[in-house]
Amino acid sequence: MKNKRNLSNWPRNIIQWSVILTIVVLAILPSIIKGFTPDFEAYCPFGGVQALGSYLLNQSLACTMTSSQIIIGILMMVGVFLFSKLFCGYICPVGTFSEWFGKLGDKLRVRITIKGVVDKILRSLKYILLFITFYFTFASNELFCKQFDPYYAVTTWFSIDVVVLYAAITIALVVLGSIFIRLFFCKYICPFGAFANILKFTAFFAGVLIVYILLLKFGIEISYVWPLTIACAGGYIIEITGLSGKIFPLTRITRNEDTCINCNLCNKKCPQAIDVANVQTVKHVDCNLCGECIEACPVENTVQINKKRSLRWLPVIVTVILVLVGISLKDVVEVPTIDQKWVPDEEITNMATFNQDGLRSIKCYGSCMAFAGKLKRVKGIYGMAAYVGTNKVKILYDSTLLNPEKIQQAFFTPLKRPLQSIQKDVKNVKKVKALLENFFDAYDFNYLSILLQQKTNALGLQIEYGCPVNVYIYFAENENIDESKLAELLESKKISYESAGKIKVAELDYEVVSKLEIEQISREEYISQLFEAYQVSFNDYDKYDSLIINKYRISLGKNAALKRKFSYLVSHLSNNNGIIKFETNLNEDYKQVIDISYVDSLINEKEIYNLLTSDTLYFTYRDGRTGTTENVFKFPEEGSAIFSKRNE
Ligand code: SF4
Ligand code: SF4
Repeated sequence: MKNKRNLSNWPRNIIQWSVILTIVVLAILPSIIKGFTPDFEAYCPFGGVQALGSYLLNQSLACTMTSSQIIIGILMMVGVFLFSKLFCGYICPVGTFSEWFGKLGDKLRVRITIKGVVDKILRSLKYILLFITFYFTFASNELFCKQFDPYYAVTTWFSIDVVVLYAAITIALVVLGSIFIRLFFCKYICPFGAFANILKFTAFFAGVLIVYILLLKFGIEISYVWPLTIACAGGYIIEITGLSGKIFPLTRITRNEDTCINCNLCNKKCPQAIDVANVQTVKHVDCNLCGECIEACPVENTVQINKKRSLRWLPVIVTVILVLVGISLKDVVEVPTIDQKWVPDEEITNMATFNQDGLRSIKCYGSCMAFAGKLKRVKGIYGMAAYVGTNKVKILYDSTLLNPEKIQQAFFTPLKRPLQSIQKDVKNVKKVKALLENFFDAYDFNYLSILLQQKTNALGLQIEYGCPVNVYIYFAENENIDESKLAELLESKKISYESAGKIKVAELDYEVVSKLEIEQISREEYISQLFEAYQVSFNDYDKYDSLIINKYRISLGKNAALKRKFSYLVSHLSNNNGIIKFETNLNEDYKQVIDISYVDSLINEKEIYNLLTSDTLYFTYRDGRTGTTENVFKFPEEGSAIFSKRNE
């Protein structure tokens, strides 16, 4: 007989509590450390598996996914193949809470264990959810499960990716389901549980995968939907028929019939309600090697792993090793978020590679694709790989056509922005030029704008390509500029700012590489240099002869601040075939105006003004859908035709 002290499964309890405490600490830290944002997705193996699948199918990672998730996902898969669903049994916080809520249900005497046909039918739900989750993740390159994942919703305080209604339903299923029904979420809802079970049916899983790969190898284009459907349907059938693999997993719970005293304590203690007391080897798919039955058994060496006393702590040791390996490997192996070549291999000559890091705009799948889209327009660039984890790109190019400097120039975007309006009495402006190292993209421009707005009275900011980057900061003529203080400010190591109601911190590393240069320019020059024209043509503009195009000019006024909404106004105007171009310009007094090109046989100036001032804007999305929005633009004074054929 065992000593009573040996009846607790303390190593498992320590691991479970450590996981919960780590999550709680990480969730609290942002309110203590300004700007600290924990990455709760980083150690989610299910996210890793989805990211891996998405990468293999689309050569791109799901947005926000990095190599660390993939490594954790692969380690989890290895763990299930060789041992069991150790993640479910030891680490998953949702599983831990489900067990704890279940104990509460037992205390209240309200918890039941679903058995028989109802149990078999309900088990299909998690396979259906698994199919839906993988299908939408692979199709969209976004982690679909984020929308309803209870763990993600709670730890991120219902972040923007979470659909509150879906997440509230799953949280209710975890809490209420677990109180009233034994491990309701784990057994019937969790898509990760379904995936782990399919891995446990190793021969079946490997068979589906090998056939799919062979079909692709032989040139038979078959959608991933087929193997996914077969895996989900097959997994469900194997689960409800109770079949199990002969070899994998390598470790199973065994019971010594000779020493068993039929006390049934192992059954009572098993969180999954597996009938350990009446089998020699536990082959049930729900067994996750948690070891509760081993600890519950009062007879020494009766319930064991593979009939061996020496294997008692193997699941605990393997779990800890897998977690440590995952954490230490996550920064060693790097998987690109996208890896593309847009020129066929046979056309590639003189290939060279250019690496650029520090690109803050390389932060998700969408921004990587936008970056690639920009490079595709450059002759001599063959392809690129982007790594969101390290904000890095690797660019393949023809060394006879390009060099690193030309490539940097190709992806650099010159930008300018007024930081405040220039007062009427300011006649001249000081233009300060600084050469900055470690300054790469629009994110740096934004951070520098914020820094200058917070700490200076700068009027405007402009960047132009250069190596180092040319940065121009504009001040009113009466502003005293202390050059060394300004240079020191530009080399600030961090800024904090508010975004969507949260305080964020950005690390900065700019280096001023030469003395600041200051020149004086006129107010008009400043306005021209900071002015950014907006121009778009439509309704077959190019087909019209310039002689029949008229121009209607109206003051932009305070609408200049609504530049982000111009597209609604432009789309609304383009509904009239007589309007063919919209542009903003500076007039002779350096005031911003809108110039609208139109065909006077189709529309007149009064009708244009009516369109500009209508209460509602009717617009069309790129995909052809239409919509309406309130017209926030105000044009108190009518414009006039600055060139009209009819008036000539
Ligand atoms: S059979 Fe034993 S190891 Fe398996 S889940 Fe039940 S208690 Fe845990
Ligand atoms: S707890 Fe041990 S002794 Fe009791 S039924 Fe289970 S295996 Fe037999």
